[in-house]
Amino acid sequence: MNPINDPMTWQGRLPWPGAEAHKHARGRLGVVSGGALSTGAARLAARAGLRIGAGLVKLFCPPDAAPVLAPTLEAVMLASFVSGDQLAELAQPMDAVVIGPAAGLTDATAANVAALARTGAALVIDADALTLFRDRPGDLFACLDRDDVLTPHEGEFERLFPGLLAKGREAAAIEAAERVGCVVVLKGSATVIAAPDGRCVVNGNGAPWLATAGSGDVLAGMIGGLLAQHMDSFDAACAAVWMHADAAGRFGPGLIAEDLPGLIPGVLAGLY
Ligand code: AMP
Ligand code: MG
Repeated sequence: MNPINDPMTWQGRLPWPGAEAHKHARGRLGVVSGGALSTGAARLAARAGLRIGAGLVKLFCPPDAAPVLAPTLEAVMLASFVSGDQLAELAQPMDAVVIGPAAGLTDATAANVAALARTGAALVIDADALTLFRDRPGDLFACLDRDDVLTPHEGEFERLFPGLLAKGREAAAIEAAERVGCVVVLKGSATVIAAPDGRCVVNGNGAPWLATAGSGDVLAGMIGGLLAQHMDSFDAACAAVWMHADAAGRFGPGLIAEDLPGLIPGVLAGLY
């Protein structure tokens, strides 16, 4: 049995801003949006990234999504792209990028993942950006390096690592992290966080209120926001998973994903 995810193990490495902080130095996070009908998930992730302390958050969207997104954004910046190469150029200054939430199960999303892998930004790969590689997981694994984080729920995990869950969730997450060479967050009621060096914890403060559409997108943004602030990827995943559940527990019944980013400051204040 692996240890329970405990704030004591990462709290001392949370990236608090110093007196000389400025927005660029606090970390730049990019989030890739889906098309015009699929922009909400990326907005949830972007807002969560800002709330968890990234100094600057920018959404990257296909051109048809820009007129939908622009009127909905305040602190979050926006840029549109038409190709993987153009996305990579826009993402070049970013410290971390989230891709996958409502991104679309398309060849374009696959090309965007490959293009982002060339930027050197730490990547959070979630949702559609996991599922679309179900018939060719090797193509995704070839894009990953040790700063990246995969955030599959069990269905997404099974598609990428068929049969591995039969070993149990903890053993499966550890083996998956070893295979891909980056952190794997196997989500669920007891989320497992595993690193390629064998570190593994099980989250113990899970809140069933998180079983609601969009909560995973918020988690991806939280992890991305911590990666943008150069937190170690295993620490970032552990901290974000714990804070995500703590936020949900503070709200309780009636929680929807939109509520979560606004709860992050209260969670952070308790860890400061
Ligand atoms: P997704 O499956 O991508 O929508 O993400 C759902 C998020 O909610 C993940 O962070 C899960 O760990 C969390 N979650 C879902 N169901 C539960 C549950 N019953 N108890 C605790 N956390 C949950
Ligand atoms: Mg999800």
